[in-house]
Amino acid sequence: MTLSPNIMPTTCQLELVPESVQACYSPSRFSSMLHSAPVQLMDSDCIIKPHYSLSTLTSFQVGGPAEWFVAPRTVDQLKAGVTWAKERSLPVTLLGAGSNLLISDRGLPGLVVGTRQMRGMTFNEESGRVVVGAGEMMPLLAQRLAKRGWKGFEWAVGIPGTVGGSVVMNAGAHQGCVEDILVSVDVLNPDGTIETLSPNQLGYQYRTSNLQNGGRYVIQATFQLAMGYSPRLVQEETSSHLNRRHSTQPYDRPSCGSVFRNPGPHSAGWLIEQVGLKGHRIGGAQVAERHANFILNCGGATASDIFNLIHLVQSTVQRNWQLCLEPEVRILGEFQSV
Ligand SMILES: Cc1cc2nc3c(=O)[nH]c(=O)nc-3n(C[C@H](O)[C@H](O)[C@H](O)COP(=O)(O)OP(=O)(O)OC[C@H]3O[C@@H](n4cnc5c(N)ncnc54)[C@H](O)[C@@H]3O)c2cc1C
Repeated sequence: MTLSPNIMPTTCQLELVPESVQACYSPSRFSSMLHSAPVQLMDSDCIIKPHYSLSTLTSFQVGGPAEWFVAPRTVDQLKAGVTWAKERSLPVTLLGAGSNLLISDRGLPGLVVGTRQMRGMTFNEESGRVVVGAGEMMPLLAQRLAKRGWKGFEWAVGIPGTVGGSVVMNAGAHQGCVEDILVSVDVLNPDGTIETLSPNQLGYQYRTSNLQNGGRYVIQATFQLAMGYSPRLVQEETSSHLNRRHSTQPYDRPSCGSVFRNPGPHSAGWLIEQVGLKGHRIGGAQVAERHANFILNCGGATASDIFNLIHLVQSTVQRNWQLCLEPEVRILGEFQSV
């Protein structure tokens, strides 16, 4: 039986598949595209490639191919790619660093847009604001800001995601999060217009925002930092955050970081440990010994192994604690039940 994560037979529901992906999914159409030729966008070197492997573009290092893939460098290229997909009624999925995604082994239909080439950092020395392209990596930005003695981004140094993905996820750590320092975000709307949104338009809550509903694509974000601190001190604080993470979390194997949102009052990791699932394995996927809210790809894991382990953890915690662990990881595509 083929299942989408939102229709799993459990009282504890996995996260919904974005409608744009699910509604347009058609295996026959998808496979008919496999031998299509690459498409050149505008008069540029930006190419839309068919049947493009996504497993190397996600931190779990699993997942099948995108029906089509493009990596724009500019807003015009992003627009052209989205328009191309729209004209063909193809769903569009944005992919940052893929550090919070579980993509099905069957891949994704439509166009996947990789944002990593959408770069740029502009520091305003008068206001303490930095404007950053969606594809810039959070750790790099944290290091650059620390070097200037600009305070407020130290917490982000261990988050292996892009600025775009982190704005969408409201990423956070060590009592800091995107919402605290975000001034505004520029998005590409479905009608092709570009809009500047303020944080209070984004429906921010713990590790979530209304940008997760899809349809609006983050182009760049503006953050407010506090200037005038000693670069040495900010750099030391940044490094100490990184060291603390490396000593408490398993960074040596592919993962997506925390799989579940913390339900409170207990952490998801503590609950998983109490039900005896630390170290539990399905295929190549394992609940980490070091931090039970991490699932690791121990080599050769499939997306299905990880999906089934997520489901097992969820149903076991539900049975023992009457608590629904909600995935923080975004689950995309179709999965087969065990
Ligand atoms: C080892 C490890 C540690 C981690 N630690 C933390 C942590 O401490 N705190 C934390 O919050 N997270 C953590 N994460 C999870 C992850 O790094 C964050 O959620 C990160 O912000 C995701 O960014 P990304 O670019 O990888 O997004 P992706 O995983 O690529 O995408 C996430 C979501 O955002 C959408 N998206 C991506 N880019 C855009 C865009 N430009 N416009 C619109 N939508 C977009 C995607 O479609 C998807 O729905 C960790 C992950 C790992 C692997």
